[in-house]
Amino acid sequence: MKLILLGTGGFVPTDEAQTACYFLPEHNLLLDGGTGLYRLSRHMQSAAPLEVYLSHTHGDHTTGLHYLFGSYFKKLADESAGPVNEASLNDLSRRANELLNQTRIHVTAEMLPKLKPQFSFPLDWCLLEATESLPGGGKLTYFAFDPAREEIGFRLDWPGHSLAYVTDTIASPEAAYLDKIAGVDLLLHDCNLPDNKSRLERTINHSSTSAVARVAAQAGAKRLILIHFNPMGWPIEADLPAARKIFPATEPGRDGMEVEF
Ligand SMILES: [Zn+2]
Repeated sequence: MKLILLGTGGFVPTDEAQTACYFLPEHNLLLDGGTGLYRLSRHMQSAAPLEVYLSHTHGDHTTGLHYLFGSYFKKLADESAGPVNEASLNDLSRRANELLNQTRIHVTAEMLPKLKPQFSFPLDWCLLEATESLPGGGKLTYFAFDPAREEIGFRLDWPGHSLAYVTDTIASPEAAYLDKIAGVDLLLHDCNLPDNKSRLERTINHSSTSAVARVAAQAGAKRLILIHFNPMGWPIEADLPAARKIFPATEPGRDGMEVEF
């Protein structure tokens, strides 16, 4: 199964890393809708309504939802291959709007009132079920990191493929989500701080490199891809040798990366 990293940055986009957005093209499913969403149309298999799962309401995970109409429009235009004229533009706009309005945005009851007013166009807002059925015989479950905060993580399981998405939280040996991500094939995990800035974890509610590697090892994940990098000029590359001593299958994510899991 393929995962495409459309945006591996956090906070604000940079030339190298747009903000959080991860796409499963076979299922037309997005995890978060940060600015990386602008790259979506070139990876869509067909112009069909997306299923979008949001981890929380922050702009670096939701701003890209404003690009949904344009993404559908571009995909429809690419598929039509006909001339662009007044009639086709109107038709493409109508069809893009239909897809936009059918886009299912899955959120918790806490997120819904904060997010819905931010979008002036209708979307199909859906409250997350404890277990969501996914195409291909899969299921998606979610888990809170901290009952006092809104951020949630996701685990997606299909026969023979599993993925966990953990962002905007603090990796630690006591993390309550460890059992939720146990044995996962691919773990995408926040890595917003280099080890030499790990003292800031509690202040900014993010994870540092070696702590993430320890979480991956403790959870028995098979592969770890680091994401949600900090745009403040705090690279994590120097930490990779130490992280790989803890968990050898550690890789930094990068925008445009395609991963089979
Ligand atoms: Zn974030």
